[in-house]
Amino acid sequence: MTTPFSPDQAPHAEALHGLALTAGGGIGYSTDPVFAWNRWPAEGRRVWLVSGGGAGHEPMHAGFLGEGGLDVAVPGEVFTSPHNGQVVAAVEHVAEPGAEVLLIVKNYTGDVINFAIARERLEAKGYSVGTLVVDDDLGSEGAEAGRRGTGATVVLEKILGAAADAGQGLGELLELGRRVGARTRSLAVARAAHTRPGGGEGFEVEQGSLEYGVGIHGETAAETIADPGVEQLVGRMVDELLDSLGHEDAPAGADYVVMVNGLGGVSNLELSHIAAQAAAALRGRGAELASLVAGTYISALDMRGFSLTLTAADDAAWVGYWIAPHAAPGLPHPRIAEAAEDTGPRSANTGHEDGKGASSQWLDALAERFEGYREPLNALDQRSGDGDMGTNLSHGVRRAAERGAASPDEELDALASAFLDEVGGSSGPLFGLVLSELARAERRGEGVRAGLEAVQRVGGAKPGDRTMLDALAPAAEHEELDAAAVRAAVEGAASTKDLRGRRGRASYLGERVLGAPDPGAVAMALVLHAVAERDGVDLEGVDAAGLLG
Ligand code: ADP
Ligand code: MG
Repeated sequence: MTTPFSPDQAPHAEALHGLALTAGGGIGYSTDPVFAWNRWPAEGRRVWLVSGGGAGHEPMHAGFLGEGGLDVAVPGEVFTSPHNGQVVAAVEHVAEPGAEVLLIVKNYTGDVINFAIARERLEAKGYSVGTLVVDDDLGSEGAEAGRRGTGATVVLEKILGAAADAGQGLGELLELGRRVGARTRSLAVARAAHTRPGGGEGFEVEQGSLEYGVGIHGETAAETIADPGVEQLVGRMVDELLDSLGHEDAPAGADYVVMVNGLGGVSNLELSHIAAQAAAALRGRGAELASLVAGTYISALDMRGFSLTLTAADDAAWVGYWIAPHAAPGLPHPRIAEAAEDTGPRSANTGHEDGKGASSQWLDALAERFEGYREPLNALDQRSGDGDMGTNLSHGVRRAAERGAASPDEELDALASAFLDEVGGSSGPLFGLVLSELARAERRGEGVRAGLEAVQRVGGAKPGDRTMLDALAPAAEHEELDAAAVRAAVEGAASTKDLRGRRGRASYLGERVLGAPDPGAVAMALVLHAVAERDGVDLEGVDAAGLLG
């Protein structure tokens, strides 16, 4: 069954309407037959750039319409070639017979056939037509029909758009396009298939596996591989792309234009990470980065995967076209890459390394114990929050252990500063406050009360709001942090399973949080238990870890 948000439920003609609305008047479109065009071409342009193919690869091609990009885009149904009649009608709409037209066609049978027929029909009407077939996909190297056309389409349409605006004629554009195309290769991988047009399941990728060399229409790849992790995966892809471009034989100093492209279901965060890995892999092979872009330019509906496209830059002139400004909503905005040393990380000196203490047995043991709490606490946080409470808590203790303490007297301070400085989430800094009050107070009982006050002051919650306060407040009713106080904290934490959330993420979930205790309250009980134990309190029969179920 498809859902209302399913990408195959978006009629592409209506999607064109949406695109036109967002383009502020620059993009016109027709629904019968379906095509779209740039309404504001550059003055110097003499050749009309036309491209098209099945829908489902947005922003390609209609998103590439605009000054510095395409003049005409002709989408078919999802993953289906447009009809040649659409192409003819689109060209006739923007250009008079006698005009020069360049058809940019991805190497897929349906596209090749329909654009070939369109070309003959246009020539018969007096247009002067050239065709550029894009065939860059290494994943289909050696196939009978030749390599498929994928990411190079973006590179070519960007470069040819700028070159056309510079006044180049059809012959020059064809030559430039062939040269850039011949030096461009792409490779794609997927962790999961896209939503299938018309419903039904796409190809299956087992957990821990990747389809390597996948196409952009849901065809499985030639190879299924065990996921080697992003670094190795990107390294392998860059290696194969460089090899196929003959990098070893390239004259020293060959530069590469690199495009990291999401296939529709990959976060921007991941794409930037992949970009960093790709730059490192190039460096590792002694290849220079001329320009790097990362984004979603040619998608496969919502496929969870990405492609890498490398172009060996033989000539600075077309790199200038690659980085030229443009007005197309979906084309990349490339820049010339900076040297690695200028883009490397800068770290603010927070002074953590100064005063690093000796390792502490207590902190080391605590780090190990809290590592064991990570998963169960995450599971509790998953029910009411975002599932990271255990990770936050064990990270804080681990960092304190790594920092160490100058003497046993400073172990609690070390714990407090690790939480204050380095642990995120809502709970990290609040634990930092409580721990610093516990470390600072003359008597531990006073520390618990000061901690309670501090958390209320900063977090604005009250006991009963289903937070860590529901463990802290009952403990604060005791004069000292003794066994009775820790037991009260454990019982308080357990009681949160009947409380609705009024603070933090749990507050958005109403009754859905009932039945399991608040992870922050459980963590507070565990922390108080650990501190009392360190003080030598006899905690026989006080089972804080039992809260984890
Ligand atoms: P985040 O919600 O940012 O992911 P964590 O997962 O680290 O934060 O911590 C969640 C815990 O933080 C909750 O279970 C709750 O006990 C505690 N918490 C959230 N908001 C407050 C608040 N205002 N006062 C006290 N504790 C809070
Ligand atoms: Mg959380």
